[in-house]
Order: sequence, then C-alpha cells, then structure tokens
Amino acid sequence: MKKCYKRMPRVALTIDVEQDAAPFLNTWQGVEKGLPLMLEVLAKHDVPATFFVTGLAAERFPELIAEISQRYEVSCHGYEHERFDKLAVDEQRQRIQKATEILQKITGTKPLGFKAPNFKFTVQTLAILEEIGYVYDASKASYKRAPRQSCSSLVEIPNTLPSTLLHLPFWLSRQVLSLCLCFLPLVVLDYHPWEVVEISNARFDLRFATGDKALNRLDRTISYLHTTGARFVTLKEVALYRATQG
Ligand SMILES: [Zn+2]
Repeated sequence: MKKCYKRMPRVALTIDVEQDAAPFLNTWQGVEKGLPLMLEVLAKHDVPATFFVTGLAAERFPELIAEISQRYEVSCHGYEHERFDKLAVDEQRQRIQKATEILQKITGTKPLGFKAPNFKFTVQTLAILEEIGYVYDASKASYKRAPRQSCSSLVEIPNTLPSTLLHLPFWLSRQVLSLCLCFLPLVVLDYHPWEVVEISNARFDLRFATGDKALNRLDRTISYLHTTGARFVTLKEVALYRATQG
C-alpha cells in the first residue's frame, strides 16, 4: 500500500505481563518461556515498549521485571488480572494500591500508567487512579465500549487494535496497520507473552496461530513498521507530552 501519511506516524508497542490466557488459565508459561523471546525481538530491533505488569507477576518474577524496567517502561495491569468492573470501589482501590506498591518496590519507580485487565473498568477506577497519582490510563480500546469518563486529569491513551492482529496472516495485518498509520497520529498495539508459546492446555481459539508463528509475526511487524518510518514511543512519553500540552 502506498504511504499516505503527512507526518511521521508513531507506534507504541505494549506487552501485558500476566498469567497465561488470563482469566482462563493459572499457569505462567508465557512469562517463563515467551517473555524472554519477545525481549530478544525487541532488543534485536532496538525499539522501546511499555510493559503492563500485574502485581502478582511482579511478585513471582521480581528479577525479570526489575531487569525489564532498566530498559523499558513498566506500568500497572492490576494485581491479579481482576475485572475491575466487578469489584466494589474499596476493593478496586486496595488492589490498585497493592499492585502499585509492588511495582514501585521492584522497579524503584512509581508506575505512571495503568491498563485495566480485559479493558474492563468503571468511572470510579479512573478516580482512584487519579487519587493515587497516575498520569495516564490505557484501559480503553477503540474497538470496545467503555464507561464515560467524568472530568479527569488522566491522559487517556486507548489501544488501537486487538492482539489477535498478531494471529492474522502477515500480509493482512500489514494492510490493517498501514491503514491505521494513515489515519491515526498514534497506533497502540498490545501483545501477550503467552501468545508466543504453544500452551497445550489452552482452548483451541486461544492456541490459534500462537507459538513460533506469532513470534515471527511480531518480528516481521516491527521490521515492517521500521520501513514505514514510524517512530516507536512508550506510553509514558506520549502521556507526559500530552500532559504538558494541556
Ligand atoms: Zn491482560
């Protein structure tokens, strides 16, 4: 497809660090086997990324998360990949606070961003994030319904495409990405480490085109994005820039 953008498009790669195919499984093969493979791909291309890490993942893999935080942005993905729209306000606050403290202790930095697991949250979730001092929220997806946000100072950065993009044949996902780059100033993509390993006990649809195929598509996608001249950014970078623009 011919390039049609007038200014340099920006792309943010985000990776959710959580249990396998949450909430369907309680295993961690993705973090144990898939995450190191994804880190190799990111390092090979020398691109930044934002990792949304659950408090539980950080407790189980503190050294790995600390290492990731040396090179990439680490933000918060709840405590145990809970559905925030199903929790009472106090419970939501307690879990966000707990996950925030764990991440801060392990990485040495307070996370600036939050993404609600499964993109499920309430207006109170946003109020809690503001109260705790978060700068941005990435809990919305442009392809999912979301609660209306009341006046909030949080910078809102929605996810652009579902992670199933990684499962499409490369020629097709490239066309979709190309269109997004034409029309959007920022394209936010999300990936999961469990998608790049073959998890034998997962449901068929969750296993479709995963493992090496998915890892290879991630690699090819980043190569393709480089050819478009897209600039890779972290969500923190986007949020801090937007916050200064008012
Ligand atoms: Zn998640």
